[in-house]
Amino acid sequence: MTQTDSIVTGIGVGRGLVVGDVRRMPDPLPEPAQTNSTLTPDEELTRATTALSDTAADLRDRGTQAGGLAKEVLDALALMAADTMLLSDVKKRIDGGTTAERAVFDAFANFASIMQAAGGYMAERAGDLGDVANRVIARIAGVPAPGVPQSSTPFILVARDLAPADTALLDFDIVRALVTTDGGPTSHTAILAREKGLPAIVGAKAADILTDGDVIIVDAGKGEIVLNPSADRVDAALTESEARLAARAEATGPGRMADGHEVALLANVGSSKSAAAAVEAHAEGVGLFRTEFLFLDNDAAPSLEVQKAEYAAVFEEFPGQKVVVRVLDAGADKPLSFLTDAGEENPALGRRGIRALLAHEDILRTQLSAIAEATLETDADVWVMAPMISTVEETEAFVSICREVGIAKAGVMIEVPSSALLAHHILDVADFVSIGTNDLTQYTFAADRLLGTVANLQDAWSPAVLRLIREVGLAGELTKKPVGICGEAAADPVLAVVLIGLGVTSLSMSAIALADVRAEISRFTLVEARQLAERALSARNAKDARAAASLAFTH
Ligand code: PEP
Ligand code: MG
Repeated sequence: MTQTDSIVTGIGVGRGLVVGDVRRMPDPLPEPAQTNSTLTPDEELTRATTALSDTAADLRDRGTQAGGLAKEVLDALALMAADTMLLSDVKKRIDGGTTAERAVFDAFANFASIMQAAGGYMAERAGDLGDVANRVIARIAGVPAPGVPQSSTPFILVARDLAPADTALLDFDIVRALVTTDGGPTSHTAILAREKGLPAIVGAKAADILTDGDVIIVDAGKGEIVLNPSADRVDAALTESEARLAARAEATGPGRMADGHEVALLANVGSSKSAAAAVEAHAEGVGLFRTEFLFLDNDAAPSLEVQKAEYAAVFEEFPGQKVVVRVLDAGADKPLSFLTDAGEENPALGRRGIRALLAHEDILRTQLSAIAEATLETDADVWVMAPMISTVEETEAFVSICREVGIAKAGVMIEVPSSALLAHHILDVADFVSIGTNDLTQYTFAADRLLGTVANLQDAWSPAVLRLIREVGLAGELTKKPVGICGEAAADPVLAVVLIGLGVTSLSMSAIALADVRAEISRFTLVEARQLAERALSARNAKDARAAASLAFTH
């Protein structure tokens, strides 16, 4: 790489701006050759089983070191390496005369295709199998497993994409930013970067030319990587970086635009633990309290008393503030034996969310009663909403049960195009709506949000999605009722401004994203936000919409 100041673009995550040295993650190992083994089957089998059990032990060790959610992910990967069906497949292939490397490669590929075919959560995990296979094959071959380079000095990590086993142990004092050539806005790398507040640019195909030691500027806000920057450019970037950090640190109060227009900035939480992080990040309350954690991995719904205690623990963190609780969203990627139907061909289109709850009204009523009782014990301003509403009738059914149980504010999520298009009727019945852009995008494009092969379609910048949001925004203006956003889209600072321009009145996101969004919306007036929204709406695809709106952010 010789050209000075040349620019590579990708999809930026966050607003960070970092100057640093490149360290590349080695590419995956080449596919093992299909040659016949020169060793005996027993010798080959020993090579394979040793590598499989060593890899499982290594993954478990990494999990213990990392702790938390990463431990769960790595323990699940370790189980894949120790799977008995996989081992017997490896043995069968070795008995057929192949090498340990090739047998492991083929057995993992076969395992991955079975998981892909199962769909949903299993299909999502299938991508991780390739990473585990690589680790096992590297051990057999006696070469280092492809992974994050070790370094005691800070660097910018450049990779094709990052697997969970790589990201779990990233040292955020050393890794200053992430650049990937593959992956999209919902890739594992993008989600991790958002969660940790790390600047990242994903899907930057041309970053393939970067090599170890190159100096680059990563401007996540603009989605740009400057290669080999001149000294002047580096100085300017460092000054701009400080200014952005200062703006971020200063932005602490309630969400307010440059003209004083207020937009509540709320946090998404999944338990009382994440509620504390929301308080620390100055959230004005909770815009999405996901309650699934109480139900998953259980054979039956928890009792009213157990639920009430958990809800009260979250409400207590937000005295006098709004907490929007979402009732159980089961089905599709979150199957529950006691609520959802096993064996649906297309569970994402099946009896999930409110459909499952209305079919098991006792579970819904118990949950709503637990929420109502917990509300009486605290000072939080508790609102309740239902997931996956697709008709006005479902809205009526949910709201009327809420009223019976004594819930003061009953709303619904807009996650399906039908409910976006009927938002004005829905808002005649419900007290508020909250748009789940993750599912709304999935259902607009008929593209599984967990499936890597269609990840390019999972982009809320798409004008198709923005037009649906505009319908909901207009309905909110007409009925004078609140319209929130609680999907990933709210955490994108540029998109957040556009969403306000579309008529959204509150934004809810993971706590870490709040500071950047707060700083960004304070730079624009409502009129400007509407102009940006118009530009994005008239674009022909997500890329153009992002570019049209982002133009204003670079000046
Ligand atoms: C959404 O679909 O955007 C949403 C917020 O709900 P979840 O991600 O929990 O499905
Ligand atoms: Mg959803």
